[in-house]
Amino acid sequence: MKVYKFGGASVKDAKGVKQVVNILKLTDKEPLVVVVSAMGKTTNALEQVVHSYLSKDPDCEAYISEIFGMHLSIARELFNKPSHGVFEAITQLRQGLSDFIRQNKATEHAFVYDQIVSYGELLSTTIVAHYCVDSGLNLRWQDVRQCIKTDATYREGVVDWPATQKAIKQTINHKGITLTQGFLGSETKHNFSTTLGREGSDYTAAIFAYCLNALSVTIWKDVPGVLSADPRFFKDTVLLEHISYSEAIELAFYGASVIHPKTLQPLQRKEIPLFVRPFNDPAASGTRVGPGPDLKPQVGCIIKKEQQVLIQLSALDFNFMMEDHIGDVFKWLHSFQMKVELIQNSAISFSVCVDNKYNRLPDLVTQLQQRFQVLVHPKVTLLTLRHASSKLIQSSTQGRDVLLRQESGNTLQLVLQGVD
Ligand code: ASP
Ligand code: MG
Repeated sequence: MKVYKFGGASVKDAKGVKQVVNILKLTDKEPLVVVVSAMGKTTNALEQVVHSYLSKDPDCEAYISEIFGMHLSIARELFNKPSHGVFEAITQLRQGLSDFIRQNKATEHAFVYDQIVSYGELLSTTIVAHYCVDSGLNLRWQDVRQCIKTDATYREGVVDWPATQKAIKQTINHKGITLTQGFLGSETKHNFSTTLGREGSDYTAAIFAYCLNALSVTIWKDVPGVLSADPRFFKDTVLLEHISYSEAIELAFYGASVIHPKTLQPLQRKEIPLFVRPFNDPAASGTRVGPGPDLKPQVGCIIKKEQQVLIQLSALDFNFMMEDHIGDVFKWLHSFQMKVELIQNSAISFSVCVDNKYNRLPDLVTQLQQRFQVLVHPKVTLLTLRHASSKLIQSSTQGRDVLLRQESGNTLQLVLQGVD
């Protein structure tokens, strides 16, 4: 058994769906589980539906029509006959979403979010599965909500591993290809839809691989593989042919966006290799994550995060920054949903670099000012370098002011003034 995953960028249009079939035919790996994300930017568009629905915006229906219209036009390109069963299946999904919107009484944002946003993957897999079957593949569509069981933490469902293991064993027994949705699950008690967190389809692939003791997972992406740095920002990037699990976990943790951080641990546990391969060039080998040396080739890697915030604190009474102070700081960082990227403390000051994801910075600063002297650098860039030579460090900072520097083991983190 192998597991493949195709992301939203790969299935964003009819051409992409055709390429999925080409890859499935080329590789001829059966039995196979294929995990598919929502098409293109559908999840973002559905987030807008959630927002407009909960704020009683009259345009809500129009947003839904736009999303279904986009899927229908892709389906029309793929299927010639207007009487094809796929159109009825799409109509039923539309009916399901309309029924939910009409009947729902719940107001909890995260719950409503998961019930609506799940239509992205249901739509994409319905279209892709019909097209695969028409192309002659021995393929079965599977509702992933019967396989992946989670708790009721909507938007960030926590996998119930024993229930999932059991459900997957019971449902995945098809000898050919099983095609299913990424990102979704269902809550163990009531079977309501849940989601695993944005960009969670890689994680879905890893869950299946773990439960089925798969031989490998392949993520087909619109990039050649994992590169040593983002080529949009850095010159001389190289393709990493091999990465160890622990190195890949470090890179994903610090923000290398090619691999979703949660994906790697279940694979490492069973030593299942992960391949990241180019969707448009299936003959190329891409990157392999698995047992072995940290990196091949052995090069320095750079991860860049822009629009970060550096907060520097010192006690109002010139006192030292002690455990009680620092304990309170963490409590507030957590309650204002700040993602902490880096911390550093000295006798009289405490610095923290955060990702202000939910725009709660002003509230946090107001809170902090009651206890500390607060200095905020609102727009900084955080560079994380792994295995970097001094030449690479110099070239990546490009003469910019380094506000903070922290080194531990093979990791160097630099907070730079400003963004590009
Ligand atoms: N469609 C979901 C998202 O965009 C899951 C995924 O693409 O992995 O977040
Ligand atoms: Mg997506």
